[in-house]
Amino acid sequence: MGEKQYEGHVVVLPYPGQGHINPLLQFAKRLASKGVKSTLATTHYTVKSISAPNVEVAPISDGFDEGGFAQAGNEDVYLKSFRANGSRTLSELIQKYKNSSSPINCVVYDSFFPWALDVARQHGIYGAPFFTNSATVCAIFCRIHNGTLTLPVKMEDTPLLLPGLPPLNLPDLPGFVKAPESNPAYLAMNLSQYSNLEKVDWIFSNTFQELEGDAAKGASELWPAKLIGPMVPSAYLDGQIEGDKGYGASLWKPLGGECIEWLKTKPLESVVYISFGSMVSLSAKQMEEIAWGLNGSNFHFLWVVKETEHHKLPDEFINSTKEKGLIVTWCNQLEMLAHKSIGCFVTHCGWNSTLEGLSLGVPMVGVPRWADQMTDAKFIEEIWDVGVRAKEDEKGIVRREELVWCLKEVMEGERSDEIRRNASKWRELAKEAVSEGGSSDKCISEFVEHLKGSNKKAEGRYLNGHT
Ligand code: UDP
Repeated sequence: MGEKQYEGHVVVLPYPGQGHINPLLQFAKRLASKGVKSTLATTHYTVKSISAPNVEVAPISDGFDEGGFAQAGNEDVYLKSFRANGSRTLSELIQKYKNSSSPINCVVYDSFFPWALDVARQHGIYGAPFFTNSATVCAIFCRIHNGTLTLPVKMEDTPLLLPGLPPLNLPDLPGFVKAPESNPAYLAMNLSQYSNLEKVDWIFSNTFQELEGDAAKGASELWPAKLIGPMVPSAYLDGQIEGDKGYGASLWKPLGGECIEWLKTKPLESVVYISFGSMVSLSAKQMEEIAWGLNGSNFHFLWVVKETEHHKLPDEFINSTKEKGLIVTWCNQLEMLAHKSIGCFVTHCGWNSTLEGLSLGVPMVGVPRWADQMTDAKFIEEIWDVGVRAKEDEKGIVRREELVWCLKEVMEGERSDEIRRNASKWRELAKEAVSEGGSSDKCISEFVEHLKGSNKKAEGRYLNGHT
């Protein structure tokens, strides 16, 4: 067989965290499956953790080639260094292909890196940011950026009423909106995502019409995004991409075999899967409450506790729950969620985890900790009705009794059947969106057709819908 023929060449640039690489790499795979050559540009530190069929992976520099973010020490230093070194090395990558048979004609970049548009423009090619948060969260942040919503949002400003969104109360809002001083560097990065949107060619958002069409429409004047999600490997949804059974990126070693062997021995929908994603670090007190909550619930559980968090687990808990629970340092989350023994997903409500829970039709218990997770949790409980949100006490801790209540409610309580029905409904809608002719699939196809047909220089205006 000869080499696959592609038309157009996109370089995809994620922020090098697990929750960003996963959806952007998946987008690269979708583009490749539709005939566009796709190259994922990522840092030297992460490049070795990524391998996906039909996507080339090319290293660029964040200035910390040996240790990545940890080497930088803080967000501010890291982002500045990424901007300087990333711009230079991304430009070199685009240059390298210039006189090849497949010159790059578009950069799809993580919206955390608005500077990537300048690099694209220097080379006269298209630039399109990819947003990894929900459309709802983007609708809030783009209004803060344009000044129509002022910070901090206080109790007397709520419920917050924004076009296309349900009324939002204080606990539903991203942390920085209530306390902007809590993490200024992160807030600034969030707002910078909207700094040059009037110059970009497309905006992509990892959500779908049926899920968040109203939120996106309500913000479309400021943020006219194409909804192309959920970016979950094809085997779990539409099956259009042959062999696409995993994201193809893992910054930690997954303990897949061990988990599956253990799950195999458990009855249908009897196990609680619990994970706080790649970034959240819980207090020792919170870990203790979760541990005893899991123990007290009497359900089997599979808990992802990262190596750096392991010391926070109470010794007696580890010894007394060997029969009931399996604790692993990392796993292939999708594989677990898709397993028939899993009955519930206790999640920190990161946007990828939320979409994965919805896509796999798994009922959820939301235990949000910070940032956009608070807003995602509201939607899980009140809008999509696919789970419940665990309530915190006045110290911000979810107590063991609360977790037990939530688990029982979702696994076998009054609302359990309805939650399961809704979860199945959203799974079907997610599948439809990415299947051939579905709302997300159409948006991706339109983009691809444009890239294939276009030898023109980037025009620097919105192409959304009116080309
Ligand atoms: N994940 C995984 N294995 C784990 C825990 C998480 O593969 O043991 C993946 C999960 O499938 C998701 C990503 O890590 O795609 C986490 O992204 P999310 O947005 O949920 O949270 P973040 O880590 O960004 O807080």
